Amino acid sequence: MSNRILGLHHITAIANIAQRNHDFYTKVLGLRLVKKTVNFDDPGTYHFYYGNEEGTPGTILTFFPWEGIGQGTNGVGMATEIAYAVAGGSIDFWKERFKQFNIKTQEAVERFGEIYLPFTDPDGLNLALVVPKTTDNRKGWVTGEVAESVATKGFQGTTLSLKELEPTARVLTDILGYKQTGQEGNRYRFITDAIETASTIDILVDEKGKRGYNAAGTNHHIAFRVETDDVQMAFREKILSAGLQITPKIDRDYFFSLYFREPGGVLFEIATDNPGFTVDEPLIQLGSKLKLPKQYEPARAEIERVLPVLK
Ligand code: ZN
Repeated sequence: MSNRILGLHHITAIANIAQRNHDFYTKVLGLRLVKKTVNFDDPGTYHFYYGNEEGTPGTILTFFPWEGIGQGTNGVGMATEIAYAVAGGSIDFWKERFKQFNIKTQEAVERFGEIYLPFTDPDGLNLALVVPKTTDNRKGWVTGEVAESVATKGFQGTTLSLKELEPTARVLTDILGYKQTGQEGNRYRFITDAIETASTIDILVDEKGKRGYNAAGTNHHIAFRVETDDVQMAFREKILSAGLQITPKIDRDYFFSLYFREPGGVLFEIATDNPGFTVDEPLIQLGSKLKLPKQYEPARAEIERVLPVLK
């Protein structure tokens, strides 16, 4: 058993129109919708989880689609890019596919010897595909249009935009077990050797940057992965003794969560592997039915009436 942070568990972002979000991630990007539930604090809003077949931690991107919410802006104090690992030789397939679906892309860029293809989702959320230098044996979800050889494998990592390097870097290294492995200009790379995938965090320093505004097309929080609740609670103690505030353990039905705001302003979560997405539906049916936490089950009819119908 590992008592360390095992890279990223999930990332949660905000979208506007549920159908558009669903179509982009399941059809264009070819991810599996592994859970269709509601925002536990606002059950009139969906909570979508997209990932690989099982929704393995490190592959899960989740959204609150708040219909009619305004456009957010990326800025400091936020995660501002999510990078998905893909196999070498797949970038041309994706360039062609993005063109076909009118998805905005930017020129491919090289960072730390790896090629990134940046693109944005229909709400303007910044994503990128990257061919990692390290081996990534994770199997992506396969659809009729996205074959195994080109499928996204899960996260390689994420970028945090911050005014200052040091306070957040200390949280990553002294508490979460990451090591700084490189610097290119104002981009600093941190990697944990506790796991081979979803193990990268880049800090992009922008001293004069404006704070981001959290609404459609921006990230809400990033969650780090631990194996069990015991490991999670040990991290809770560590974070408290570093003088940071942190929530009690919260049951999210598919994992247990703790939340704390790191000094640079990004909302961090620590989430457990247990119990996982098969706790309330079998693997083969993941994402096919609306799942509600038990406190909302009595209000199912009302909730289903309010939620947008997905085609
Ligand atoms: Zn979360």
